Amino acid sequence: MHELSLTQNLIEIAEKHARREGALFISSITVEIGALSGVIPEAVEFAFEACTNGTLAEGASLEIQHVPGVGRCLECGQECPLEALTDPCPSCHSFSLEILRGQDMLLIEMEIDG
Ligand SMILES: [Zn+2]
Repeated sequence: MHELSLTQNLIEIAEKHARREGALFISSITVEIGALSGVIPEAVEFAFEACTNGTLAEGASLEIQHVPGVGRCLECGQECPLEALTDPCPSCHSFSLEILRGQDMLLIEMEIDG
């Protein structure tokens, strides 16, 4: 499962950061999941519990923020919301779009204790 390794990476990053701060545990983690990332939020929630077992983030709460996709048309320069990577520009119907937002899953915030 794609989400399992992504979640594992995320927790590794969070743990590294927490250790640097001298924290004993992580109480909550907030991630951003882009609409174009192909990541299924429910699968991340499921993986989170398994991946945090035995880590500093064991028992931590997970908050997921959904980020809509945004693209910029390379033909007419318009920025537009995108629901899929294959969506055309709504103004000129060009398929030459640069993706500005919504392609990633990122760790954006965490709370640590200790
Ligand atoms: Zn356009």
